[in-house]
Amino acid sequence: GDFAIEIDTLVVGSGPGGYVAAIRAAQTGQKVTVVERAEVGGVCLNVGCIPSKALISVGHRFEQAKHSEDMGVFASEVKLDFTKVQEFKNGVVKKLTGGVSGLLKGNKIETVKGEAYFVDANTVRVVDGDSAQTYTFKNAILATGSRPVEIPTFKFSKRVLSSTGALNLTELPGKLVVIGGGYIGTELGSAFANFGSEVTIIEGGKDILAGFEKAMTQIVKKGLKKKGVAIEVNASAKGVEETENGVIVTYEVGGEEKKVEADYVLVTVGRRPNTDELGLEQIGVEFGERGLINVDKQCRTNIPNIYAIGDIVAGPQLAHKASYEGKIAAEAIAGENSVVDYLAIPAVCFTDPEMATVGYSEEQAKAEGIEVNVAKFPFAANGRALALNQTDGFVKLVARKEDGLLIGGQIIGAGASDMISEICLAIEGGMTAEDVALTIHPHPTLGEITMETAEVLLGNPIHII
Ligand code: FAD
Repeated sequence: GDFAIEIDTLVVGSGPGGYVAAIRAAQTGQKVTVVERAEVGGVCLNVGCIPSKALISVGHRFEQAKHSEDMGVFASEVKLDFTKVQEFKNGVVKKLTGGVSGLLKGNKIETVKGEAYFVDANTVRVVDGDSAQTYTFKNAILATGSRPVEIPTFKFSKRVLSSTGALNLTELPGKLVVIGGGYIGTELGSAFANFGSEVTIIEGGKDILAGFEKAMTQIVKKGLKKKGVAIEVNASAKGVEETENGVIVTYEVGGEEKKVEADYVLVTVGRRPNTDELGLEQIGVEFGERGLINVDKQCRTNIPNIYAIGDIVAGPQLAHKASYEGKIAAEAIAGENSVVDYLAIPAVCFTDPEMATVGYSEEQAKAEGIEVNVAKFPFAANGRALALNQTDGFVKLVARKEDGLLIGGQIIGAGASDMISEICLAIEGGMTAEDVALTIHPHPTLGEITMETAEVLLGNPIHII
């Protein structure tokens, strides 16, 4: 055997969980080694958040260039060069992953290429092709992320795509079928519809975008219909037949079998944690449901020197949640008493328009027996929204009845993804609706909608009767 190399803190995976944990650990004085089997940046930077948002923003540009007649803009020949679109997206990814590599180096973090496999609670083997190296470590942070669920009747192939395949398409599909109307499927379906693809979404549940309020998803669905996206709900995908230059997808809805032809089918029916090939069962790591690892409020597993963060532990599978947990785990190893508090973790869906939520929804609060006051204010009553010609949507605030403490907020509308941070801050800071109402917001901005919503809660809004 080889000689083991001794390390201090081991981080497995360099996604938004792992690389952030590594940097925070280094900041607290730990010597850190990151093991990554693929590309630095994980799913988020390479095949997730960032490339999808790059494609989505190109879709918006294209759509707006073609359809701004009511604002007096007539563009006669708007063209899309999909090769160039992909070049743009790949450039964004490259800049960011290069940036993360630089940050790791700058923090004197060693990055090792290879696949980690645990031998015992202090030993890991890293395999890279034909070579392998053993490391012994004091503490480890697992941040191995997740991968798309593959359904047996839809094996991934050239034309049966996972989100990764869809992001890396080299041609624009004339027709695209999306199986699974969660946020990933709907965001990508929406982007391709903006590019001009004819899109059908097949959803097994009773509605797409489960988890967001009906009043919000209704607006998104209206927008999808306007783009020509067909949505089938309560529909179960049965199978796919690959033809010479396309696919035929069979699905069942209301007891009736239907078929739809397309160039490609994108399957986005969930993601499973990468916890099955790490040797964790043998070393006694405790698992919860669906392959998730059980952790405490410091992200520590049942093995005291091993931590787990991000998509492999319970909670929303989101990049900022992984990064947040990464900082907590790194600080816990450094002996700080940081603990997770999930109340102010937002979730955003980059549809048209965007949806964002943080903390409690009205329904969740009621379900937990919390008495709340809620208020809404429409984008249509805001000057900036009118000037942008983007008037669909609203802000909603949820405050505890007894003292006005803000415990939740929802936004649907242009810029919701950026606007939600103010509500996150208010919740994190323990603020009331009055604090938000008393904050002077610049005019004319979309942020004023949040202020006015707080005024509605207090009963004294200026711009609505
Ligand atoms: P990952 O980012 O999955 O990183 C894990 C890393 O570990 C990978 O690089 C992997 O190669 C490595 N690894 C795994 N096993 C081993 C091993 N044995 N040895 C060595 N290395 C290993 N989230 C948002 O918040 N906002 C969004 O807009 C958003 N959009 C998304 C769009 C798409 C299309 C997808 C697929 C996801 C999106 N997400 C989004 C989710 C987000 O990407 C994930 O929640 C996030 O990447 C999880 O971070 P992580 O660090 O836990 O894991």
